[in-house]
Amino acid sequence: MAEKKKTLIIGAGVMGLCSAYYLHKKGHQVTVVEKSMGGQGASFVNAGYLTPSHIVPMAAPGVITKGLSMMLNPKSPFYIKPRWDFDFFKWAWAFHKSSTKEKVDRAAPIIKDINLLSSSLYDEIKESGDLGDFHPEKKGLLMIYQTDKYGDAEKKVALKAKEFGLEVSHLETDELKKLHGDTQIIGKGALHYFCDSHTTPTVFMAKMKEYLLKNGVQINYGEAVLKFEYTNTTINKVQTDKGIYHPDNVVLASGSWSNDLVKQLGLTLQVQAGKGYCIDVHRPTGIELPAILMEAKVAITPMAGFTRFAGTMEFSGVNYDINVVRVEAIAEAVKKFYPDIEITQTEIENAKCGLRPVSRMAYHILEKRKNSIIFSLQRAMP
Ligand SMILES: Cc1cc2nc3c(=O)[nH]c(=O)nc-3n(C[C@H](O)[C@H](O)[C@H](O)COP(=O)(O)OP(=O)(O)OC[C@H]3O[C@@H](n4cnc5c(N)ncnc54)[C@H](O)[C@@H]3O)c2cc1C
Repeated sequence: MAEKKKTLIIGAGVMGLCSAYYLHKKGHQVTVVEKSMGGQGASFVNAGYLTPSHIVPMAAPGVITKGLSMMLNPKSPFYIKPRWDFDFFKWAWAFHKSSTKEKVDRAAPIIKDINLLSSSLYDEIKESGDLGDFHPEKKGLLMIYQTDKYGDAEKKVALKAKEFGLEVSHLETDELKKLHGDTQIIGKGALHYFCDSHTTPTVFMAKMKEYLLKNGVQINYGEAVLKFEYTNTTINKVQTDKGIYHPDNVVLASGSWSNDLVKQLGLTLQVQAGKGYCIDVHRPTGIELPAILMEAKVAITPMAGFTRFAGTMEFSGVNYDINVVRVEAIAEAVKKFYPDIEITQTEIENAKCGLRPVSRMAYHILEKRKNSIIFSLQRAMP
């Protein structure tokens, strides 16, 4: 019998664990190395959206100008912390160069295909029964706007989405209100993307980890990859702070921390950490449909047993520091759209954050120079 391929995955976020799931199914002997003790970061605090509708990459015309104009507002949903960081300057310049209409037009159908594939893989995992019920729900996504400026911009995206065959409809004010029943909503209208779905990331991650451990995947928490040794196109040795591995394949799923690891391989990967926050409310809110509050860029998701309010794209380096003013801004924005929802001070104080691995362009495929390097990249809010 042929020996199983030894595959080492760096990072136990959603990319690392899902890669482990599929590689294990393909017969690899998988080890995942995770420097934290697990349970924190982007893969746990996200809004849980599976969004084929998000066809516009973050690197789009006007984004940098808008970002710079928001920088002085401590409550804005977008923030760049002024700092001397050469990697950040290089990334920002490349991001700016990618933010053209031509590049967006080229990227949109590819993003759509990646998103549809990703969504269908969640269906596949659900149908396999491997994880039991991890709360995937297909209720679509509302993009709610209060001003014509945002409404008109989203209508253009919706037209494109329709051209791509995605199902979306426009809701007038009264239709939006009707959809919310007794829950008060202040919105001029919304685009309802029926193609989107959502899940509860904490449940998904816990069930995926449980399945992997039960099926012989080794997950080593509290172990950090430090360096590689390679010859020509092959990584021969991976050194961690606990030991040495000699894998046949390496999967890099280290999110916002990937730049430095990739540099060691003589490759360039421009990724910056885009920090986002979430506030979880464990009491009835009346919200039954996932929604993005467009002007505030806040994402709301009815999860399994709680409602999550998530938002902010903050470029302030790789750290988990929480800026309370920005978290409060999320709570204030929610009240402007859902006047009955009062997020308490304790809920604000319990907010968590995560780092989106934001690439300089819509998608980024590294030349396959070493044995199997794969990585995840984030391309859009939320
Ligand atoms: C507030 C918020 C809302 C979001 N909402 C959505 C959404 O609705 N839909 C969506 O698709 N996306 C959303 N995202 C983005 C999504 O969460 C991320 O794109 C995704 O979680 C990235 O997963 P990852 O596994 O690549 O990275 P991570 O989850 O960051 O995992 C990387 C892991 O690698 C580990 N690691 C790093 N370096 C090393 C090393 N040297 N050795 C060992 N381990 C290492 C880290 O500790 C970390 O655990 C959101 C993100 C945020 C913050």
